[in-house]
Amino acid sequence: MTRQHKPIVGVMPLWDDEQEAIRMRPGYMDGISQAGGLPIIFPFTENEQDVEQLAEVCDGFLFTGGPDITPELYHENTMEGLVTVCPKRDILESIVFRTAFEQDKPILGICRGIQAINVFLGGSLYQDIPMQYPSETEHHQVPPYDQPVHDVTISEGTPLYECFGVDRLPVNSHHHQAIKRLAPGLKAMAFSPDGLIEAAYMPEKRFLWAVQWHPELLFRTETHNRELFQAFVDSML
Ligand code: MN
Repeated sequence: MTRQHKPIVGVMPLWDDEQEAIRMRPGYMDGISQAGGLPIIFPFTENEQDVEQLAEVCDGFLFTGGPDITPELYHENTMEGLVTVCPKRDILESIVFRTAFEQDKPILGICRGIQAINVFLGGSLYQDIPMQYPSETEHHQVPPYDQPVHDVTISEGTPLYECFGVDRLPVNSHHHQAIKRLAPGLKAMAFSPDGLIEAAYMPEKRFLWAVQWHPELLFRTETHNRELFQAFVDSML
């Protein structure tokens, strides 16, 4: 009898500046676990060789939510007072992403994750939606975060459409930034009612998907968000 080998997913850690503590939200870990994966919290490091060694252990990578990407990384000046950054995450995640991308290992981005991936691939962001892209759509909801606040329209022919089998999905929304210029190679696969990109993927990669909403807060009660984690973990088998 062969021993069951669950795919191992390196989950990007959250950083609590005030407490100087590494943090994690259980939904990211549980979303992977319930889909049959084995999540591990990736350590903070700026050492490329260490990341490469750890990447050998990981079958996939989850880029989690969190603070804003440093605007200089997409060649813009910071809009003072509107942007909160975490440079140590920018550094860690840029190294992890480059390594995973080169090795064509499955990658899922969530919230900050879709923004980080877009920037690492050469795209740019709205630094503040209310200031730069005002609309009627609520993107920064108040708790509870497991309740949908706006729909996304899912484009036919995209892997997300294939996965869900629907062209519309109600989602939660807790972001004040969004993709402005989509990076070369990425394709949009879902949009909010006001036209922002809410999901993207890279066709020539094995699995490089990213969403702007928070499936880790929805999968417990909503089927399609469970299918999203399942598709991610299944891509590693
Ligand atoms: Mn939104």
